Amino acid sequence: MKVKILDWHAVTFWHWDFATHGYSDDLCGICRAAFDGTCPNCKYPGDDCPIVLGDECTHNFHLHCILKWLEQDNSKGLCPMCRQIFSAKEDVDDLQPRDPRYADLKRLIERHRATRERLANTSEQEYEVLEEMETS
Ligand SMILES: [Zn+2]
Ligand SMILES: [Zn+2]
Ligand SMILES: [Zn+2]
Repeated sequence: MKVKILDWHAVTFWHWDFATHGYSDDLCGICRAAFDGTCPNCKYPGDDCPIVLGDECTHNFHLHCILKWLEQDNSKGLCPMCRQIFSAKEDVDDLQPRDPRYADLKRLIERHRATRERLANTSEQEYEVLEEMETS
């Protein structure tokens, strides 16, 4: 029997090589969908669904998934997998993101960081006042 493979690489035209960067998981830590596909937050199959690599930990997520997670205040800016403070890796050769949504991600990470610092520097009493100010 003769097997002829046509355009094998055309199917996997683009694949994140996580292993060489020390990332062993090629599933999104939030939705558990493979990175070769799109996440549940993508409206259309084939939507651009970039990957975000954790900087402090070796967890990685779809940009859409981690954005959705960090938009929740109770995420506290932590990695949903290991509960370390989540920050995104930025300068990984060809993984360098060129997506404007990364700006949103940075903004969310920054906002959580500011909240944490404020809580760390604020006594409980002051915190209650702050909370009242914010809700009014
Ligand atoms: Zn995902
Ligand atoms: Zn997506
Ligand atoms: Zn993690």
